[in-house]
Amino acid sequence: MIFGATGDLAKRKLFPSLYNLFKKEQLGRFAVIGVARRTLTNEEFQNNVKQSVNPDGAENSEIDEFASRFYYHSHDVTDSNSYAALNRLATEMDSHYGLKGNRIFYLAMAPEFFGTIAEHLKLDGLTETQGFKRLVIEKPFGHDLDSAKVLNNQIRTAFSEDEIYRIDHYLGKEMVQNIEVIRFANAIFEPLWNNRFISNIQVTSSEVLGVEERGRYYEKSGALRDMVQNHMLQMVALLAMEPPIRLTTDEVRSEKVRVFRALRPIKDSDVNQYFVRGQYGKGKIQDLEVPAYNQEEMVSPESNTETFVAGRLMIDNFRWAGVPFYIRTGKRMAAKSTKIVVQFKDIPMDLYNKQEGSVNPNLLVIHIQPEEGITLYFNAKRSGQSLNSTPVKLSYANKGIDGLNTPEAYEKLLYDCLRGDATNFTHWDEVALSWSFVDNISAVWENEKESFPNYESGTMGPKAADELLEKDGFFWWPVT
Ligand code: NAD
Repeated sequence: MIFGATGDLAKRKLFPSLYNLFKKEQLGRFAVIGVARRTLTNEEFQNNVKQSVNPDGAENSEIDEFASRFYYHSHDVTDSNSYAALNRLATEMDSHYGLKGNRIFYLAMAPEFFGTIAEHLKLDGLTETQGFKRLVIEKPFGHDLDSAKVLNNQIRTAFSEDEIYRIDHYLGKEMVQNIEVIRFANAIFEPLWNNRFISNIQVTSSEVLGVEERGRYYEKSGALRDMVQNHMLQMVALLAMEPPIRLTTDEVRSEKVRVFRALRPIKDSDVNQYFVRGQYGKGKIQDLEVPAYNQEEMVSPESNTETFVAGRLMIDNFRWAGVPFYIRTGKRMAAKSTKIVVQFKDIPMDLYNKQEGSVNPNLLVIHIQPEEGITLYFNAKRSGQSLNSTPVKLSYANKGIDGLNTPEAYEKLLYDCLRGDATNFTHWDEVALSWSFVDNISAVWENEKESFPNYESGTMGPKAADELLEKDGFFWWPVT
């Protein structure tokens, strides 16, 4: 069941992902019930599905067959009376398609409805099923720790922790999943993956787009809640975790939880020393003038909401003591890019370059999007008579497609959910610990007005984000 089946997420991501799985015969026996407020016939709904997977509308019997499994139930999720009818339809589908009572409830709706829906699913008997029942829940999971707890308690009345699949679509990304493999399948990296050999790690996720039509939501959220609490901290956890004993859901997730537990909390008085916030002003993106954030639709001209965050995280354990993890994310930046740069420590002395400061550190760059791959920078002899070294790079391109947020991530995650593999979904403990880390920062920022805007659209953020690294003797490696 997809709740919010006439929405943007369903149309752009869920239907195409399901169709890809269908083509690969990975769906098995299935039917989809689309739930949303609007009145639609099954046929109209099926046409929407066809349109989403096949925008040019050419005849295709495979798509017809796929779409014929979609049924529509018009239903206001706040209306208690409607759930009984939904349950009848689900039971009918069960016997018609031989689904053995297995049910996945996908909540692709505004988060304020998550709790109500989960409670009704239980109250009105939809979760009383012979087969498995699973709840897939979109971000944001709460607004802070307190609201996340309330939401979690609501959904836990109807689903156990191992039946809850909290989506963080970054975890469905090919190269994010590759972090573990690069680390744990290579003898040349894991022995060096610690504070003896790594000087710092930089994680950047920059967007060129502004807030678009999401002003109303974004005003209440901001980059810290929208990106740092979930995607950025998840990438840090994968980079920093200990090797799991096995690749099981519990083992992997408990290693990630240990990273969150080791994350040094930021004292109120240190927030502005270790974290930088920004809001974009007007500027130029590919020669086009774009407006400032506070001039966007549904945004207050006085807005104190950050569209950029940079921060320095410390992980207080034996492996990482003393190694800063720098993160930065923002809108209207110079490039669309998600990249991780692992900077190794300098060699003890440089035999080949006489000039002071001319040593080039080894870097491992993990390109997450738009390009997918790995680049390793190392030094080799400069050709010719001299014995100077010069940086060279070894590159591996996974594939040249723009992968972030594309159906592939959702396709992988949906498939995992169908198989009951929750490894690439976030456990409640991860959510709770990351909220409590982020809440400290937002509490300070909410009480102090920043003089926004403080970075021009089309740049890499405020100057203070560069100074954050300069203080430690580092700089952001270019990501463009
Ligand atoms: P949307 O506004 O496009 O769609 C909302 C859907 O909910 C519609 O189908 C609407 O009919 C339905 N709905 C609203 N009120 C209802 C009610 N009372 N009863 C029944 N149905 C009701 O939203 P969206 O962009 O599809 O996002 C859905 C969820 O996914 C949100 O939690 C969002 O944060 C998350 N998300 C979306 C994207 C994306 O790319 N769109 C990406 C990441 C996360």
